[in-house]
Order: sequence, then structure tokens, then C-alpha cells
Amino acid sequence: MEEGLKHLRLVLDNNFDQMIAYQAIVELPPILRASFENIIFNSSWTGSQPDFNLWLQKYNEKIDLIIRNGFKWQTIKFELKIHAIIADSRSRSKICNSIQFNGYYGCIKCMHPGIAVERVVVYPNLPHVKLRTNSCSNLQAETAEKSSVCFKGIKGFTYISNWISIPNDVIYDYMHLCLIGIIFLKKIR
Ligand SMILES: [Zn+2]
Repeated sequence: MEEGLKHLRLVLDNNFDQMIAYQAIVELPPILRASFENIIFNSSWTGSQPDFNLWLQKYNEKIDLIIRNGFKWQTIKFELKIHAIIADSRSRSKICNSIQFNGYYGCIKCMHPGIAVERVVVYPNLPHVKLRTNSCSNLQAETAEKSSVCFKGIKGFTYISNWISIPNDVIYDYMHLCLIGIIFLKKIR
């Protein structure tokens, strides 16, 4: 299974977000995986400032149950594992309870500190940027929880760490990484 998070911003109201959590079955070939009838809808959130830990825990209880116990179809028992999560950068940082791309330590995969240039945080090439591992991410979340202060870009515990390994299973997707910037660039020109 691959967990996805789609973030829609309704243009009528700037503070109004609609988010959809859905799953795709990775065992299916890509053309079938992306087709409408094979996308599994989990839940949606509508409103401002979503609380992701509340949403994931209280409105997706069946995922927890299936991950723990598996499920049975006819006489066959299936186990379910979430292999990865894909989300756009805003939702990704919220779901991981981490700093956004425009803040210090804004990368979920590494510990590049970022530097401020004219009040904008940028990420120049640096030698030896340490990668985050799952144990280091958990430790950083624990430190942030204890001190109630963001630590190395991690704000605290995220409920999704019960289902996946952070940052290993948080994947950057082709559409947001490569295509969306090009479209904005063309729009500006
Ligand atoms: Zn990075």
C-alpha cells in the first residue's frame, strides 16, 4: 500500500483547506494503480489549520486495526503494510510534524541547516550534510516533545510514525519535485 495525501486549497477562502487521505495498491501495475476504481479513500479534512495527529489517529482507526491484525478474504489471510507516503511539500511537513521547506532544517531527509539570505532561507551546496535516520528522527521528535521547542526541524511526535518509518518511507514524488516548478516558471514567463 502507498498512502497519499492530496492537499486542495479552495480559492474562495485563503484559510480554508480540504485534504484527502487515500491509498494506492503498489502491487498493481501503474496504469491500474492510478485508476479511479482502485484508489482507496480513507478520510478527508475540511477547515483551517488541520491537526494531523488528531486526524490520523481518530479518523483512520481502521488502518491501525488492519495493520495490526491483517484482514481475511474468503479463506486467505492478508497482511497490510504501508510502503510509503507521498504528499506535496506543505502536507508532507505537516504529516511529519516537521518544519516546512522555507524554514531552517526544512528537509525531512537530511540535516542541512539552511542559511538566511535577505530574509529567505536557502540551501546552498554544503559538503557532508548528515542524513536523518529513523532512530535519529525519533530521538529528535522526543527531544522536541520534551522541550516543546522544534529540534533540528522536527516539531514533535507524528502519529504516522506508527505506520511507516520516517524519513525512509516518506518519498518525494516526481510530479511535485520535477513538474510543478516548471509549470509555475512557464506561468510567470
Ligand atoms: Zn535534504
